[in-house]
Amino acid sequence: MTDTGISFDLADLADRVAASVNPQRYLRLQRALATFGGREDGGVERQALTEVETRARQWLMAQVKGHRYRWLYDDAGNLFLRRDGREGQLAPVMTGSHMDTQPVGGWLDGAYGVIAGLEVMLALDDAGLDTRFPLELAIWNNEEGSRFGPGAMGSSAFADPSRLPAFMSSVDADGVLFSDALQRMFDAVQTAGHVPLGRPVSAYIEAHIEQGPVLEAAGSTLGVVTGIQGVRWFEVLVTGSSAHAGTTPLDVRQDAVLAAATLLRRIADAALALGDDRLRVTSGRFEVKSPSINTVADRVLFTIDLRHPEEAVLDAFEAQIRSIVGSGAAPCAGEVSCIMRKPPTPFHPHVVALVEQASNRSGELYQRIGSGAFHDAMYLADRCPTGMLFVPSIKGVSHNVAEDTKEEHLVAGVRVLAATLYSLAR
Ligand SMILES: [Zn+2]
Repeated sequence: MTDTGISFDLADLADRVAASVNPQRYLRLQRALATFGGREDGGVERQALTEVETRARQWLMAQVKGHRYRWLYDDAGNLFLRRDGREGQLAPVMTGSHMDTQPVGGWLDGAYGVIAGLEVMLALDDAGLDTRFPLELAIWNNEEGSRFGPGAMGSSAFADPSRLPAFMSSVDADGVLFSDALQRMFDAVQTAGHVPLGRPVSAYIEAHIEQGPVLEAAGSTLGVVTGIQGVRWFEVLVTGSSAHAGTTPLDVRQDAVLAAATLLRRIADAALALGDDRLRVTSGRFEVKSPSINTVADRVLFTIDLRHPEEAVLDAFEAQIRSIVGSGAAPCAGEVSCIMRKPPTPFHPHVVALVEQASNRSGELYQRIGSGAFHDAMYLADRCPTGMLFVPSIKGVSHNVAEDTKEEHLVAGVRVLAATLYSLAR
């Protein structure tokens, strides 16, 4: 493989793999997976390590009985479907995504990358082609993070096994320990073998729905993903003084709610004033401590989720948040704590180029695009050359029962994934 492109013969073979993708089989499998946790309104309820998610894993494993693949698992609850290569000692080329959903989610978030990867393996069988590198389909555990926090536990522990012990003590809303839920899943899902966390991977590519409106608006069928934007999470604590609502004059109050609301307005205005359409600033939690209708609040905590593809912009806006809170909370006090930061993740130029070449050869309209959301690929990028491929989301809707993608777009994405994986693993 070179940075200038794939050879003509190889491209012909990659085209043959793409042509071997079977749209009927793929769509049947994709729709069948959606029945696990499927709702009448088209949505899916399949949170991580629930009974229904475990049954979906069992169903997936039953789909490939009779093929020469092996199922493997690791200590984080990730599942791997391995299709051996000619050189068994080489680290695998991987594809995959996640099968868990939000409490009420759509049928394609995560599920698309899983079934697309499975169809690529079946298409390779149909084309009678083997590969030099082993190919593995990864089903990353607990990507959504809605039942057990944080999200992307499986891929995060895969990339850095030292994170797993802390994940094990995560508890869901019913008091169930992650480690107990994991054990129940292992008891129900029998695999051929165990593989260690943190093992080498040759390359990773993940197919996913865009979950945003960019591709549809541009009329593109495919998005060649260049990277994932950086994110920082902040908690802002505003401290005033509680006081009687009936007796305390307005001009002597230290009202934490008013101060917090003022700070939020200034932060939002500062974000708008930058005029940068890639900047995202969200305050999704606003908590009054000891709330009471007839008491001036003394403490308010609100959060800020800040995202941008460039670290320098994140630095500059973080400084602005700190300056606004530092100077603008009077007569209350304001304090900013950063509780999470993840730098932007640029994908590997070679993998991006291969996705772009396969998209170009597919004859579909495509464009380069950045990812606004996290994906398992973000953690894999810490370990190996990584890339992603997006297909459009109708009206940009995701994490919603109405989440959908045109069938022809889903199939086009599977074909490009097939060609790209073959180019990587040949
Ligand atoms: Zn997802």
